[in-house]
Amino acid sequence: MEEILEQANKLQNELTEIRHHIHRHPELGLETVKTADFVIEKLKDMGYEPKRIGGNGVIATVGKQTGKCFLIRGDMDALPIEEQADVDYKSEVPGRMHACGHDMHTTMLLGAAKLLKENEEQINGIVKLLFQPGEEIMNGAKSMIEAGVLENPKVDGAFMFHVVSGFPVPTGNIICPEPGNRASSNDAFEIHIQGKGGHGAMPEKSVDPINVAVKVYEAIQAMQCRELPSSQDVTISLCQIEAGSAFNIIPDTAIMRGTLRTFDESTRNYVLKRMAELADGIATLYHASATANSTEGSPTFHVDGSVVIPVRKALEKVFGDTVVDFEQAIGVKSMPGSEDFAYIAQKVPGAFFFISSGNSEDGYKYSMHHPKVRCSDEILYRGAAAYAIAAMAWLDHNN
Ligand SMILES: [Zn+2]
Ligand SMILES: [Zn+2]
Repeated sequence: MEEILEQANKLQNELTEIRHHIHRHPELGLETVKTADFVIEKLKDMGYEPKRIGGNGVIATVGKQTGKCFLIRGDMDALPIEEQADVDYKSEVPGRMHACGHDMHTTMLLGAAKLLKENEEQINGIVKLLFQPGEEIMNGAKSMIEAGVLENPKVDGAFMFHVVSGFPVPTGNIICPEPGNRASSNDAFEIHIQGKGGHGAMPEKSVDPINVAVKVYEAIQAMQCRELPSSQDVTISLCQIEAGSAFNIIPDTAIMRGTLRTFDESTRNYVLKRMAELADGIATLYHASATANSTEGSPTFHVDGSVVIPVRKALEKVFGDTVVDFEQAIGVKSMPGSEDFAYIAQKVPGAFFFISSGNSEDGYKYSMHHPKVRCSDEILYRGAAAYAIAAMAWLDHNN
């Protein structure tokens, strides 16, 4: 496996060029049309037979015809942000930027594709490469599953990298989480309260939806601290309340919107069910009516020991003490935010690792989603090698 890192090192200039090209041409959501075309062209040059999946996703396989199959993913989509980073390969598309480093992931996975092809004889099974759109809108992985990414050949395990800048972690360090639920679920919810509008001077002739909204707000907070065990990490934030148009008109409706994050699927389901019950019950009590809806975001991300342990061991052999603990490096046990690869990790054992793309103590002070965030090109060959090693090591361990 050590030779793979040496081979990767020789690809560094090529990977830097690829990354700058992708960075200059960011695309959003599921519409990664040109990025997918670019990836397909590169894969064909390497001798692959890539296929489009679910619109603008790309898959390709390498290795043997039989045995277990391990999926490695790089996401390709950018964000609707105007780039302010001080780099000479700035986004050429106004209002769009690769501010989450998915240009890095796509490049590293292309690097891994080349390394795996060069070492195809030594692959103990099948590696499936997935270049995925739509991560930022939290439905890319889901649409890939619906399009059959986990079948033909059937996938037995899965892995992804995410770059991270702006933390005091040496650039290039590989950051491994402990097994467990390591990224929260992410649901948006909306409660619609229907009252009866009227004159502010005659409340007795109206049903005030603001009155109901206030009580629903309190009941949700009380539910969180009275009905859930203290061991549950749950965040419920009601971030928007819309009601009323003037100081003397009782409005007809009130709309409340918020976000729910949990680390446990049963807690997630319980909270969504209880929010609807509380809203309905309280509204009825005050002669109003209420409906609650949630837009499903990604589920909790379960990092599986059967992936994380053999992959970490193999990476430590090659990368030594630059492989570090997630909690020590990032300061928390779990990923801040959510990750749509969780959909795949719900279906097959999966894991994510981070790789530091810029130490905050070396001038990389902005983190992901910031208009000035930068990612160091230096780490591209390491990420490419690590992706390839992760896949080969998991297959060696399981075939
Ligand atoms: Zn992001
Ligand atoms: Zn991201």
